[in-house]
Amino acid sequence: LDEGVVELEKEEVDLYDLTREICSRLASNASARHVHIEMTGEPVMFRGVHQVLDEMLYNIIENAIKYNKENGSVSVWVGTTLQGKKVIVQDTGIGIPKDEVERIFERFYRVDKSHSKETGGTGLGLSIVKHGALMHDIKIHVDSEVGKGTRMELTFAEKKESAQ
Ligand code: ATP
Ligand code: MG
Repeated sequence: LDEGVVELEKEEVDLYDLTREICSRLASNASARHVHIEMTGEPVMFRGVHQVLDEMLYNIIENAIKYNKENGSVSVWVGTTLQGKKVIVQDTGIGIPKDEVERIFERFYRVDKSHSKETGGTGLGLSIVKHGALMHDIKIHVDSEVGKGTRMELTFAEKKESAQ
């Protein structure tokens, strides 16, 4: 078996389980920054590449912790609505200026470079998220207000099985 091929194989992934596991991986990171993470929702099965979905959700939740405030919070919800399967990550952080929201998914783009130095990072996290989203047909909607926080809503496309 070619390992490279096996790695990109799609499988049924429970987005709730995966997200909960990522939140526990990031728990010490959050407590070091005095940020509280809460997770709610229900199991949601989605067919995708486990490793890619993991990296995407990890980056988004990591950002929600990193660009937060002292004693801030991150709320994660996984579930299904009339529009489809969703993961919503909401933080009470520093927010993103309206005219920069479009640009945060570009490689190496970081808002306010001087201030970002203290938080560290390369500006690659969300470009990985963008590629994973294209590969899986996931739509990402960003709502943000400077000083109040950011909400990232991921909608996972239902793959139509060819009728046979
Ligand atoms: P890396 O993820 O590579 O460690 P990074 O976090 O700077 O570095 P991205 O994850 O691509 O890079 O994010 C790009 C920029 O978008 C960040 O530098 C930050 O300015 C802004 N950003 C991303 N998520 C949030 C958020 N939840 N709240 C406020 N700003 C954010
Ligand atoms: Mg990041």
